[in-house]
Amino acid sequence: MDAEEFRKYGRKMVDYIADYLENIRDREVVHKVTPGYLKKQLPDEAPENPEDFEEVFNDIEKFIMPGVTHWHSPYFHGYFAAGNTYPSILGDMLSDAIGCIGFSWAASPACTELEVITTDWLGKMLALPEEFLHCGPGDGGGVIQSTASETVFLCLLAARNKIVDKIKKENPYIEEKDILPRLVGYCTDQANSSVHRSALLGAVKMHKLDSDANFSLRGNNLKEAIEKDKKQGLIPFFLCASLGTTGTCAFDNIEELGPICEAENIWMHIDAAYAGSAFVCPEYRHYMKGIQYAETFSVNPHKWMLVNFDLSVMWIKNSTYLVDAFNVDPIYLRHTNEGKVPDYRHWQIPLGRRFRSLKLWFMLRSYGVSGVQKYIRKHCQLAKDFEKLILDDGRFEVTSKTVMGLVCFRLKRGNKVTEMLLSEVLEDGRIYMIPAFCRDVYFLRLAVVAERTTPDDIRYSFEVIKACADRVFSNMGDMDGDGPVVVDIDLPRKKTTAHDTNSHS
Ligand code: PLP
Repeated sequence: MDAEEFRKYGRKMVDYIADYLENIRDREVVHKVTPGYLKKQLPDEAPENPEDFEEVFNDIEKFIMPGVTHWHSPYFHGYFAAGNTYPSILGDMLSDAIGCIGFSWAASPACTELEVITTDWLGKMLALPEEFLHCGPGDGGGVIQSTASETVFLCLLAARNKIVDKIKKENPYIEEKDILPRLVGYCTDQANSSVHRSALLGAVKMHKLDSDANFSLRGNNLKEAIEKDKKQGLIPFFLCASLGTTGTCAFDNIEELGPICEAENIWMHIDAAYAGSAFVCPEYRHYMKGIQYAETFSVNPHKWMLVNFDLSVMWIKNSTYLVDAFNVDPIYLRHTNEGKVPDYRHWQIPLGRRFRSLKLWFMLRSYGVSGVQKYIRKHCQLAKDFEKLILDDGRFEVTSKTVMGLVCFRLKRGNKVTEMLLSEVLEDGRIYMIPAFCRDVYFLRLAVVAERTTPDDIRYSFEVIKACADRVFSNMGDMDGDGPVVVDIDLPRKKTTAHDTNSHS
């Protein structure tokens, strides 16, 4: 492809993308394909000779789109919000064109410096303590990672390294292999599955602690667990607290947990992958009380802040815990300006890194702080609108408090009937939702996902759910839906393709 052809198809692709996003409501939100659908249609080998790009272009609608789930349709309510905006797409285009691999400042100074500036901008927008910022008083700062999962793993490794170093300094004859089996980390029973995976990968124990009635991890539970584990010779070293859990968007009480971690020399990491974006609005910052006790904090702008995947930001108060822990410095990566700015390769697991700050910069400049706040508040309001609709219906109940852009609800008649409702909704195909299961309660999660979801879209989704509930009750011969709770009889079920959020994400 030469420049002329690139210009032609570049324009065509931009038009295609704009048409796709502007008309996304008209597409069926969920694909209808079965596994292997694409293999049946595409050749087994790559083409021997170059093909005309026009043909490639035509195959997008023919082969790819039928197998796409349209996450940015206003009728997609699965998981959590996923970022997607035009400025962010443009940022990725430019990043791909520059195509630098910014492992050090010298590898492409703009790549590092824009990341330093934009993570500071974002940190200030979220009102993080200044110790987390590059412009703050110490060795703190932000770094862009691919995902929140990668961040938890990295922080767990840094915390592991910190405690092992400390113990070895105090007991020069003890070996690392004798320390690792005694290390124990903690998280709430509501934590994302990535926390357990990090512990598996990091070869340490991770104890899941019971959360309270609001699915929040409280200080007393952590304290009790620490005392019990210490009596058994274990060494508590890490806590992953969640602000906005995956299942119900619950908030651990970091104001209670923080001082305990400080007293026990435990590294507190805060996973605010989804809900952290809401801290751009002062009215949500009360959930951050206690943030000063955290060593690390992470939020995914690629979830709820208008930036396309992948862009997860992690802030650390003392970056030397990362830089010193994983520093491998061959001569070919060194440069004369070392030490004056971060060499981000030390702050992450891979060596290579993309110029991702461009998309954050483009988005922040296009929306401004006020635009991001407006977007967050709109999503929260839409969730409240939906909550009101289901409560007014009378047959539904909410299963946890709706505080952000997620509503957790079910039919009052219990788990089985709610499961049947989801099957009906998925069969219907006009909207998409996923279930979750907490403390024997099966419920549905309606997340407001698309940026431009309107109150009419929310009403539409409610009408679909209502019609599906009518069908479920009509099949049961109970039109009002006010019969007894159905728990254990084996009702006829349609096949469901839904996932359990806690195990899936
Ligand atoms: N933490 C929480 C609270 C989440 O909800 C999720 C995903 O939904 C994750 C972590 C994992 O995010 P990522 O895909 O960026 O690893």
